[in-house]
Amino acid sequence: MIEKLQELKDIKSLIQSTDSEMVRCQELDHVVVEGEKLPIFSFEIGSQDPSSPVLGLFGGIHGLERVGTHVVISYLQSLLRQLKWDKDLKEQLKTSRIISIPLINPGGMAMHRRSNPNGVDLMRNAPVEAQDENKNSFLLSGHRYTNKLPWYRGKEGAAMEKEAAIVVDYVKEHMFEAQTSLSVDFHSGFGMVDRFWYPYAKSIGNFPNLSEVLSLKDLIDDTLHHHIYKIEPQSQSYTTHGDLWDFIYDEHMQLNPNKEKLFLPFTLEMGSWNWVRKNPKQIFSALGMFNPMIEHRFERTMRRHWPLIDFLFKATRNSFWKEQSSNIV
Ligand SMILES: [Zn+2]
Repeated sequence: MIEKLQELKDIKSLIQSTDSEMVRCQELDHVVVEGEKLPIFSFEIGSQDPSSPVLGLFGGIHGLERVGTHVVISYLQSLLRQLKWDKDLKEQLKTSRIISIPLINPGGMAMHRRSNPNGVDLMRNAPVEAQDENKNSFLLSGHRYTNKLPWYRGKEGAAMEKEAAIVVDYVKEHMFEAQTSLSVDFHSGFGMVDRFWYPYAKSIGNFPNLSEVLSLKDLIDDTLHHHIYKIEPQSQSYTTHGDLWDFIYDEHMQLNPNKEKLFLPFTLEMGSWNWVRKNPKQIFSALGMFNPMIEHRFERTMRRHWPLIDFLFKATRNSFWKEQSSNIV
């Protein structure tokens, strides 16, 4: 028996809660698990001009990391409420846009597993090879042995899994034409601190927009005093094959060899070991390793990342930091 997902109910009631002409909701596709149809929904809020600045919020790629989906849903919920009364926000959204797929892997979430229902890790599934052999770690970096083990990439040469392909197509359609686009994909599970990762996951060096990222990092340090994030490339911790955001970023780069448009995909890896340290019983449950299980800690986690999301939305609209970047590197 698969779980009836509260998260899907919450997304559906979010869709029903708004009649704003600024909000467009779609059912992009669905997966079927045990005869149950599980939809993948998206939200586009604000300007329909493809060149407008965009912030993208993504969650639920890994089915066990439910907290990421919860953070995205709670942010969207607040945004839709604000749209009922906040004229300033409406003004901002006339010339910019927030888009989202809050739950990318509903099949995995309903089955209580990291992978999708086919046993494929959607964050190891893109056609990208890690380049720094010594930073690769056995299995964790992605492998093709069997879908019975975690971090399975899928068969060599096979098409991307449906959920991963949906994200690629969606980002291309809704972000690639923008002058400035930033995205955050919410995960949890690695380490004690919240890591705000920028590309690449596949290699330590050679990230073409390093100067822009460092300029944005300076702005975060300067604006969000005492912030909690460790801002670094994922490859600082470990490298992986098949990273979805590496793949999408490289596709964007190929279309923009002269860097007229900027697309920076970030991954927020919420450090769940702290939740486990404060409540060690959690270690005995699969979900407990990846999610805050105590009410006050859950609420704190929901609130914790709003300033960063608000900041990034501002940064997409006020992109002077892009021009300053040449002074840094
Ligand atoms: Zn994850």
